[in-house]
Amino acid sequence: MDGPHSDIRPDIRIPAELLPSDGRFGCGPSKVRQEAVDALAAEAGEFLGTSHRQATVRFMVSRLRNGIAELFALPDGYEVLLGNGGTTVFWDAAVFGLIERRSQHLVFGEFSSKFAAAATAAPFLDEPSMPKSDPGTAPVAVAEEGVDLYALTHNETSTGVAVEPGRVDGADAGALVAVDATSAAGGLMFDPTEVDAYYFAPQKCLASDGGLWLAACSPAAIERIERIKASDRWIPASIDLGIALDNSRLDQTYNTPALATIFLAVQQIEWINHQGGLRWAASRCDRSAEAIYGWADASEFATPFVTEPAHRSHVVATIDLDDRVEATTVSSILRANGIVDTESYRKLGRNQLRIALFPAIEPDDVVALTKCIDHVVSALS
Ligand SMILES: *Cc1c(COP(=O)(O)O)cnc(C)c1O
Repeated sequence: MDGPHSDIRPDIRIPAELLPSDGRFGCGPSKVRQEAVDALAAEAGEFLGTSHRQATVRFMVSRLRNGIAELFALPDGYEVLLGNGGTTVFWDAAVFGLIERRSQHLVFGEFSSKFAAAATAAPFLDEPSMPKSDPGTAPVAVAEEGVDLYALTHNETSTGVAVEPGRVDGADAGALVAVDATSAAGGLMFDPTEVDAYYFAPQKCLASDGGLWLAACSPAAIERIERIKASDRWIPASIDLGIALDNSRLDQTYNTPALATIFLAVQQIEWINHQGGLRWAASRCDRSAEAIYGWADASEFATPFVTEPAHRSHVVATIDLDDRVEATTVSSILRANGIVDTESYRKLGRNQLRIALFPAIEPDDVVALTKCIDHVVSALS
């Protein structure tokens, strides 16, 4: 038999006046703004179902690439590449087309360990180096001779740990810094001159759908892509970054992309750029973070999982509950009340809630969520 709570969900109704205006707090796919969906519906007749090789869609791809360059204030010479398959496929593309011989991966959760595993499995690369740290903390990069790519993660979505991406002191000349920014891009500040490949997928801060990867690449990263492409390494065409580069420069993808995903990402990026850019989006996430961590710090049953305040993510909050309160029960009661996807990352195995604080999510809704959690917990006890 399972524990007493596992299949019993007490019927707790949260009063309507406590509920957030939108109940989506998942870390991806995450809340898509209704204004963006409405815009898609309004333009669908001329956009959806048209060729990605023709001007209408190529113009949308150019808005996407230019919008990202503006959002990140990319320096001259940086280019935005894109392709199909999301971040996971970009890892494979990077294994083939961005790592020359040996990479170093900072491993501190599920996502960072997956890229490390992909590089480890590649027969044509040397065994990567892998500084690791426990979930809830972050390791530090260590300069090593022979490492030609340092793989960092701006925000470890599985644990809610954020680190500022940057160059590694003492690294070999020409070593690249590649940053998995899937859940950070558009919500956390960073300095683009400190990174060579800042890559992500649009179903998190960019409030779109999955299945696409995007990468802001420095001139050094582009030079690396071109050099490996010209070598005798075999690279499958669908994950060939050289082919992706050629297509991206023409505002296209190698094969057919999901047009709605591109459209919704453009809506979100232009919304953020019009509101005041990345600084505005990040300050909105800061407000949400202040609300959730401030509440947890003051709560008798909730504690921020990440003990070091500087590493507490402002886009993904992980909140431990004490043993008297079963997090899965709380999440399922919230779900029954229309507040979805507050479950913790399954493989982390903690008594925890995980809450997205992405720019599309209203900071006031995060405040409302904390009141709903308080209501559920007091009704349970
Ligand atoms: C969501 C996420 C991924 C996986 O993205 P996919 O597009 O599903 O492949 C990778 N890294 C991080 C940090 C993520 O948050």
